[in-house]
Amino acid sequence: MSAKVIEGKRIAQEIREEIRQETERLKERGIVPGLAVVLVGGDPASAVYVGNKEKTCKEMGFHSEVHRLPEETTQEQLLAVVADLNRNDAVHGILVQLPLPKHIAEKAVIDAIAVEKDVDGFSPQSTGNLVIGDESLLPCTPAGIIELIRRAGVDPAGKHAVVIGRSNIVGKPVAMLLLRENATVTICHSRTENMEAIASQADILVVAIGKPKAIGRRYVKPGAIVIDVGVNRLESGKLAGDVDYDECLDVAGAITPVPGGVGPMTIAMLMQNTLKAAKRKAGV
Ligand code: NAP
Repeated sequence: MSAKVIEGKRIAQEIREEIRQETERLKERGIVPGLAVVLVGGDPASAVYVGNKEKTCKEMGFHSEVHRLPEETTQEQLLAVVADLNRNDAVHGILVQLPLPKHIAEKAVIDAIAVEKDVDGFSPQSTGNLVIGDESLLPCTPAGIIELIRRAGVDPAGKHAVVIGRSNIVGKPVAMLLLRENATVTICHSRTENMEAIASQADILVVAIGKPKAIGRRYVKPGAIVIDVGVNRLESGKLAGDVDYDECLDVAGAITPVPGGVGPMTIAMLMQNTLKAAKRKAGV
């Protein structure tokens, strides 16, 4: 039987529409969610990502600011911009587009973002809050993955979830979130032995390794929900996930495609975090 395809693109669109409508209602009460994005240098891919964020903010009805700074901006100058944005009442979320030029320490800049405005959810304080289960803004891609699992009608509680990949931006936080959802979680990585045997026990399999089509049907338990986070550009120019989608389609119970699966959820969650931050600030 063919797996149910989890249509991230459609789900992200639904979430964006929910955010747009809630923003309209908030505006009647004088609350306008605001996102500031800071871009340093001229990296073309980063410029595209920032442009998309700016466009999506406008669609949501948010206040949007983009601070485009030259490549030669010093760390002190960038920290001063972040400090200004921390104090700016029209800005509820701050996102510094990564990667930063080599002469700037990313960690110092991310650390400088006020925790209540950390809509990327990457700062040590946000990460700590996530681990101890305190209220915080959740990192966007992991939060999007949990939302996809929920909207596919799967409750992680009591299920065995296997996460392949342990990066700070995807693998570790998604494992923590699944644990918070009461799943029993196993994390695999490049040093894991017998990964096939472990993965094929998973009711929920999340793959974030950055290796095109590395995870084939032998890793998938029949009926499992498979979330493919990978985005890899093939020589043909096409995008492929970390999961061999065609091979797994008739084994999995549900599966995300690439593109159109996890990817579109990330920006939707960024908008949701900005909305959340604005509501918290206003005491709504
Ligand atoms: P990363 O920082 O390179 O981490 C990759 C992780 O996978 C590491 O923990 C590594 O293990 C593990 N790994 C690598 N090869 C493996 C193998 N053969 N078997 C088992 N584990 C293996 O990557 P990332 O930032 O987490 O990103 C992963 C993928 O997700 C990439 O394709 C990226 O483009 C994509 N991504 C997508 C979105 C989105 O919005 N859709 C967002 C973020 C990332 P070690 O720790 O042992 O080295």
